[in-house]
Amino acid sequence: MAEVGSDENPLRVAIIGSGPAGFYTVNNLVKHREINVRMDMFERLPTPFGLVRAGVAPDHQKDKSVVRAYARCASDPGFRFYGNVEYGKHITLEDLKHHYHQVVFATGASVDRDLGIPGEGLEGSHSATEFVAWYNGHPDFTDREFDLSQENVAIVGMGNVALDVARILCKTHEELLETDMADDAIEALKHSRVKNIYLLGRRGPAQAAFTPPEIHEMGELLDADVTVSEEEATLDVASLKYLHENPNKNVEKNVASIREYAARSPTGKRRLLTIRFLVSPTEIIADEGKVAALKLVKNEAYLAEDGSVRARQTGIEEEIPVGLVFRSVGYRGAALPGVPFNEGWGTIENEKGRIFTVNGEQVPGLYTAGWIKRGPSGVIGTNKTCARETVNSMAEDLKAALHFNPGQPDPLAMEKLIRERQPDVVTYGDWEKIDEIELANGKAANRPRIKFTNVDDMLAVLDR
Ligand code: NAP
Repeated sequence: MAEVGSDENPLRVAIIGSGPAGFYTVNNLVKHREINVRMDMFERLPTPFGLVRAGVAPDHQKDKSVVRAYARCASDPGFRFYGNVEYGKHITLEDLKHHYHQVVFATGASVDRDLGIPGEGLEGSHSATEFVAWYNGHPDFTDREFDLSQENVAIVGMGNVALDVARILCKTHEELLETDMADDAIEALKHSRVKNIYLLGRRGPAQAAFTPPEIHEMGELLDADVTVSEEEATLDVASLKYLHENPNKNVEKNVASIREYAARSPTGKRRLLTIRFLVSPTEIIADEGKVAALKLVKNEAYLAEDGSVRARQTGIEEEIPVGLVFRSVGYRGAALPGVPFNEGWGTIENEKGRIFTVNGEQVPGLYTAGWIKRGPSGVIGTNKTCARETVNSMAEDLKAALHFNPGQPDPLAMEKLIRERQPDVVTYGDWEKIDEIELANGKAANRPRIKFTNVDDMLAVLDR
């Protein structure tokens, strides 16, 4: 048998997940010109691109332009897309071992983290994940309802997702019409009575997880003022000492934005975004089973032994009346059948993308990339470097003949199996048809795109 990766015996790779990490895996694999590779990508939804479609804010259309590069990957003759096919349901690890030399899991981090405080399960308490997926038209979330008749809303967390949620709640109907937000969400937000939005950070401005352009944008909202108290915008002693020893341009820019907001006075715009620092929620308080208020405790910052600035509770409590709470405190990955998982980290056990058992032994043939590999951090482009590392490990292992030895490497055999298991499989050509209709519907309404938000509607427009 010819060497794996040669023209006579191409390397067969399965990629599970079609978000940025999945596509950058393809992109990096094709750059290894010495390897003749055939790649099959499996995606649970009929649509590709993961969080670029269902996570990136609909008013940040520029960030979505990366899909052009992903489309170029998809045009590689060695690439096939199998949408509407779920790992663990339509295909198993045993199937993949039987058909591929290497398998890459790039399934992201789909589970939201809890706060672990009383009242989190109340009506009116939601994760940012649900809200973001709903307004982005993710088919699993189209039925969700959010009580936008409430005037006061709290968002817990100081990352970019928290800012996305705050910004979407602050925008006017006209601003939202310029986006590719799901129609139902645009309609629901049109009737929103939200007036006061509280963004709550447990540490200070210098430890906020958001990035400079995103916090700067909050000061430019058409019909929402932004405010921070002078006291909370002022850096504490621990932060000043830390920054003196660890200067950081991004932190300086973040702090400058916050200080500028503290110097502003509300101008009477329709909505008011209040950014709070050094406060932690301790309880969500109910009235007749629904969220009615949020109990907060004031924190103080201190320098921990490891040199980082942390927060500890002071015991000083307050209550803010809110009817909706969104927790936006990060994500974690979900375990996949047959794949070693680190429950503590919410990631797949791996070293440089090579999957290891919990006992520290490599599982030759299994790899991972993206948020499920390293946790939910960085921007879209971070996944490029992350996937490159994984693909380099794959190439090294290939040289050392560390891979599965599939009993059935014929690409047609997999195609046949998939079509038997999932007759409604969606190819890349099918997706292009869905894409074309969404874009045309958008153009007719003077919007970037009008999304299909349920799977049956997507399948209905495909010629079968
Ligand atoms: P993130 O950046 O990790 O932020 C999580 C926030 O939650 C932090 O402020 C964290 O505070 C806070 N937090 C965690 N546990 C908490 C608790 N128990 N109580 C109160 N606060 C708590 O996560 P993310 O916002 O979900 O974003 C995920 C990734 O996607 C990030 O890398 C982000 O930059 C990226 N993203 C980028 C964009 C963009 O580029 N425009 C948009 C969206 C998302 P501590 O720091 O104190 O832990």
